[in-house]
Amino acid sequence: AGDVALASPILERLRSDCETPVPVLRRIADAMTADMRAGLAEEGGGELKMILSYVTALPTGNEKGLFYALDLGGTNFRVLRVQLGGKDQRVIDTEFEQMSIPQELMFGTSEELFDFIASGLARFAHEDSGRFDLPSGLKQEIGFTFSFPVKQTAIDSGILIKWTKGFAVSGTAGRDVVACLNEAMERQGLDMRVSALVNDTVGTLAGARYYDDDVMVAVILGTGTNACYIERLDAITKLKGLAPLSGSTIINTEWGAFSNGLPLTEFDRDMDAASINPGEQIFEKTISGMYLGEIVRRALLKMAEAAELFGGIVPDKLSAPFTLRQVLILQLYAILTPDLCAMQQDNSSDLEDIERILGDVIGVHSTWCARKVVLNVCDTIVKRGGRLAGAGIVGILQKMEEDSRGLIFGKRTVVAMDGGLYEHYPQYRRYLREAVTELLGPEASKHVIIEHSKDGSGIGAALLAAANSKYV
Ligand code: ADP
Repeated sequence: AGDVALASPILERLRSDCETPVPVLRRIADAMTADMRAGLAEEGGGELKMILSYVTALPTGNEKGLFYALDLGGTNFRVLRVQLGGKDQRVIDTEFEQMSIPQELMFGTSEELFDFIASGLARFAHEDSGRFDLPSGLKQEIGFTFSFPVKQTAIDSGILIKWTKGFAVSGTAGRDVVACLNEAMERQGLDMRVSALVNDTVGTLAGARYYDDDVMVAVILGTGTNACYIERLDAITKLKGLAPLSGSTIINTEWGAFSNGLPLTEFDRDMDAASINPGEQIFEKTISGMYLGEIVRRALLKMAEAAELFGGIVPDKLSAPFTLRQVLILQLYAILTPDLCAMQQDNSSDLEDIERILGDVIGVHSTWCARKVVLNVCDTIVKRGGRLAGAGIVGILQKMEEDSRGLIFGKRTVVAMDGGLYEHYPQYRRYLREAVTELLGPEASKHVIIEHSKDGSGIGAALLAAANSKYV
């Protein structure tokens, strides 16, 4: 227990650096609101890009027919088809298939990657399971979810700014990704076209809104994080003079870039400095799944080195800093967010699951007291993450309410959530909800429903293809 006494000043410091009392959360929510306004006022006006989705037709429920969705966002891509039956029947049937992208294609040419995608789509489109009413004649329409930074120029076109998440494909940056896909489909002799290019957050909002008119905001909390919401066109001041300003659209906030006033620790700063994008995506680095495990690893490493948390042993696996490659492909040396989650589910009095997980993940034996410290570190980081995400959501809601009194508060408002972190981490979910309730107060927060909308983005993209159909 001597080791734990040594570790406790480090733990205390960590806990105080991560504190998120209501005044801190309120300042962050207010800063989020202010940054949203700055990004709406002019291009590059604030940390949040506030990207126009060009979605002006939200799904109504009347959409009918067969539509496809294609989702490229990481090491897998998914194709989906959905038969829409209009107001009464809604989604009659869906079928989907997931394919993994061979690693060499992540470092190949644009043609190779898009040819691979188009051929997967062609195979899927030509498989007739007999369940679908496949029309002949009309070109089939696709909603294309593409989760990389894109400068959208219309609902059906957008220029790739840069690849992220380990992709280094040559010849795509600066090009219209819809054109790249269309050309590849032509090479495959595939008679389909992209009617909507959508960000995954936007797809989630559209998919959830199809079932529930009170959905106003969508948030992704997975490996990374992002949020979007429904905005009045006349509130997008950077558009002034460019467009007829009535109606509304979806704004993709790219809120991962936010950083104003976040409570950070030495471990956050070191992780950021060692990351592939230092100084960027600070909100994402404090709240999303890719990073929570890594922050914990750095804290435990310091405790192992400076306070002999594991009896003077500093295991190699604990000292190896994560690399993107390790996280994406090897998943070996880093402590991953699902490990934190598994440890936090240990209800046994001797914390035997934590002992086993620490053994598996970093190769150490631990005393009971050390396990308690580990648990405390996990909880501190996850609590901060969940509460900050909650403050971000309140920032968006209060912006909407300030511009249109009565739009959000005092009536039912739904925030659609998706992503593995939110889905699988009960403590994170609880901390997020608590922060929203503390900030809004018991009355207003009663009407704010935070709802998990699982895999809504695929259906959402297909619905946006339908709502923006070239043939109806
Ligand atoms: P992505 O965001 O990569 O498109 P997901 O939405 O499925 O995909 O999120 C995956 C992420 O969710 C993982 O990187 C991990 O951080 C987090 N996650 C997955 N499972 C769990 C779990 N059991 N506990 C905590 N976090 C998890």
